[in-house]
Amino acid sequence: MPIQFSKVLALSALLAVAAPVYAQKARPEDTEVWQPAPQVVTPGATCTAPPSDAIVLFDGKNLGQWVSTRDKSPAKWTVANGVMTVNKSAGNIETKKSFKDYQLHIEWKIPSDITGSGQARGNSGVFLASTGPGDDGYELQVLDSYNNRTYVNGQAGSIYKQAIPLANPARKPGEWQTYDVVWTAPTFNDDGSLKTPAYVTVFFNGVLVQNHFQLQGQTLYIGKPFYKKYDTAPIKLQAHGDKSQPISFRNIWVRELK
Ligand code: MG
Repeated sequence: MPIQFSKVLALSALLAVAAPVYAQKARPEDTEVWQPAPQVVTPGATCTAPPSDAIVLFDGKNLGQWVSTRDKSPAKWTVANGVMTVNKSAGNIETKKSFKDYQLHIEWKIPSDITGSGQARGNSGVFLASTGPGDDGYELQVLDSYNNRTYVNGQAGSIYKQAIPLANPARKPGEWQTYDVVWTAPTFNDDGSLKTPAYVTVFFNGVLVQNHFQLQGQTLYIGKPFYKKYDTAPIKLQAHGDKSQPISFRNIWVRELK
């Protein structure tokens, strides 16, 4: 069968050429990644306790990790019964350490006897990056938003005047509330222009209220947001000037994201 034999030869030659292609047939292990292995982290006994690799910013004992934003002197808020309470006359406080990208856990409580209304009812804030004195930076609003109407881009869980929270899971005054935040810091070019914007994801009492929101710049009381170059920055807590009773914080920890 010479003709058939030559066909077999031709087919063999074709297969020889095509062989490298067939040799690349996908295997399950082709898409397995083994290195580098994620770092082993022991979770807290509850999902709010600091995991083993967290930097504890406040464990209820002292304000050793905090300074006054005004003059960098030791923070003068009140610490008692495992809780820190805003001292309005002492002004904002911020972490001694500066951060870039991180995961943050912080708990806060509006006093059960809170008075006032709107923005003047338990106003404070977590500035995810403090870029200067006063309220300079990027504020995740803290406010009594349990039956307290205000502009929605200024209620608890908002990125102040930029992002309305996706829900309002606020607990009533007197109850502890949690924020769990993922902060991606903005990056800048040498000339100060924006390279990549900031992003934030926030869980408020375990409920997603900000989903990878892209910030337009710093959060401002008046005017349009804009970016100002910084590299790393402290996390700041606000002593708001309203007349309502000061709020409290506890159990604050951060995990830096490299
Ligand atoms: Mg505020």
